[in-house]
Amino acid sequence: MSTIFAKIIAGEAPADIVYRDAQVTCFRDISPRAPTHILIVPNRAIATVNDLTQDDAALVGHMVLVAQRLAAQEGIAQRGYRLVVNCNPEGGQVVYHLHMHLIGGRPLGGVAREDV
Ligand code: 5GP
Repeated sequence: MSTIFAKIIAGEAPADIVYRDAQVTCFRDISPRAPTHILIVPNRAIATVNDLTQDDAALVGHMVLVAQRLAAQEGIAQRGYRLVVNCNPEGGQVVYHLHMHLIGGRPLGGVAREDV
């Protein structure tokens, strides 16, 4: 099933794209929870973390390294930031196209806080 993220990746819906390559497209969250809130999204539609296989190991590593680079570009690498991947309803996932949130630019508190 196609999601809004598939449309953004295909250029069929607008987004503030900050980086893209053959594997991922990265754009600013439409409803940012912090001064920096970027979504790192695989170009291939994978619904959730549960759908990843061993063949996706390099892709997942790439997503983390792209997030690391974007954090540096945003000027938050040294202050700190959070990488989040939500999975399924109780994990808070809303869009069923795998994505990693890069969130930072303000103090985020403990990992269990529910506001980020
Ligand atoms: P999830 O809860 O699935 O991990 O996160 C989905 C995120 O996608 C949310 O933070 C939400 O604000 C963001 N989002 C939903 N629709 C759009 C959209 O059309 N454009 C952008 N840029 N972000 C979106």
